Amino acid sequence: MLNEGIEHGLTEADNLWQKDKMEEACGVFGIYAPGKDVARLTYYALYALQHRGQESAGIGVTEGNGIKIHKAMGLVSEVFTEQIISGLKGDIGIGHVRYSTMGSNLAVNSEPLVCHYLKGDLAVAHNGNVINAQELKKKLAANGAVFQSTIDSELIANLIARYAQDTLEEALTKTMIDLKGSYALVIMTEDKLVGVRDPYGNRPLCLGKLDNAYLLASESCAFDVLGAEFIRDVAPGEIVIIDRQGVHSHQFLSSVERALCAFEFVYFARPDSNIDGINVMEARRNMGRELAKESPVDVDIVIPVPDSGIAGALGYAEARNIFYDMGLMKNRYIGRTFIGPQQKDRDLAVHLKLNPVKRLIEGKKVGIVDDSIVRGTTSKRIVQLLREKGAKEVHMLITSPPVIAPCYYGIDTSERAQLIAAQKSLDEVRAYINADSLSYLSMEGLYRALGQECGFCTACLSENYPLGLPVGGKLGKHITEISTPKRKEVR
Ligand code: AMP
Repeated sequence: MLNEGIEHGLTEADNLWQKDKMEEACGVFGIYAPGKDVARLTYYALYALQHRGQESAGIGVTEGNGIKIHKAMGLVSEVFTEQIISGLKGDIGIGHVRYSTMGSNLAVNSEPLVCHYLKGDLAVAHNGNVINAQELKKKLAANGAVFQSTIDSELIANLIARYAQDTLEEALTKTMIDLKGSYALVIMTEDKLVGVRDPYGNRPLCLGKLDNAYLLASESCAFDVLGAEFIRDVAPGEIVIIDRQGVHSHQFLSSVERALCAFEFVYFARPDSNIDGINVMEARRNMGRELAKESPVDVDIVIPVPDSGIAGALGYAEARNIFYDMGLMKNRYIGRTFIGPQQKDRDLAVHLKLNPVKRLIEGKKVGIVDDSIVRGTTSKRIVQLLREKGAKEVHMLITSPPVIAPCYYGIDTSERAQLIAAQKSLDEVRAYINADSLSYLSMEGLYRALGQECGFCTACLSENYPLGLPVGGKLGKHITEISTPKRKEVR
């Protein structure tokens, strides 16, 4: 483990925290808006998408003559200054926030990726995971291609460049047919903005409008921030090209069944977003309501794990007419805090981040609601906190089915060995987190909450992988970089 930390330029203390931190999907954004301050608009949109990735942030712009880019490790607020944003002049812009999934957390892996090919500059921002990336890279490498990073965007740029003799639409079509797996892409050339969603529609991507400008974003909440209008979701297997003539759509594949990530609704997406016609807040609240029907546990008060459990807890409490309150206070001003490696430091960090309201908890049978249990770390700590504050009983209510399998499609839900529900029975998990009872939502309950049974990827909950399993070796896994050790956020 220490070696791994050294390889990534992290200290042992960072590693301790990294092991505790789940990783999540990325956020992508694009804007075609001659005459507008595209960098600033992209900057605000990235703020709205920050929940999708906190590892690195980047913005690329073009005025038609090359692409200018600024990207670095850190939060949007840390990466950009007024001076940087004012220096990024352009008519088209793309942005990315990243949390490392398959690639490691190196600056070289931050996005958008910019390269120069036959037709000029090209920038690529990706959310998802290409499962045949290693196989494709090996083929390209056999013909002399070199790779500087481990990100799929570099592979995608390489493929587009290989087909550069074709029109952009043909080159993109050929590239997408080569790729297997999950991708929501925003691509920029010197005169075009492109959005692509994989044939299964695994990751979200939507199209919006702001006056005469067109926008692409992982989630509709980015449009709301800019006062833009949501037009529609990009369809699975669709390439959208935006240029001076407007929006052109091309369906490159449409015969497969849709498999939108159900975990976007459980945890990742922001509650104020709508994805493929489903409002995230409403879906989460429904999950709580369904759990209330399935597991009507005898409790005096329902409290959420902030913030991910709030919608589910509201749904659970209202369905059963039980008193709901914010019994756990979250400190929102922690940011990036130095945390020592000792167990006592880690215990302190938990108290720093979350503190139960003793008056609400003491002597009560508490129903505590969270959206998911992955490794069990969060639940265990929270049950302990509630008991310390005098809860008489603690009942853990989880508004999703157990996470039993790794995700290979862009969300690093760890290795199977780290997924507590893959390793232990329900009662063993309950005992591990030290709760009086533990209830999960059923798969049927999840589908009822989402309003439909078909069209979702539930790989992490069902072990059914609709997009297939990853293929190929590990080319490029061992690139190292000397970088400033980066402290992990307290979660
Ligand atoms: P764990 O402590 O490993 O059981 O993780 C469960 C907690 O992390 C819950 O509070 C979830 O809301 C949250 N969570 C679930 N999936 C992820 C993810 N991919 N990235 C970050 N947090 C997550």
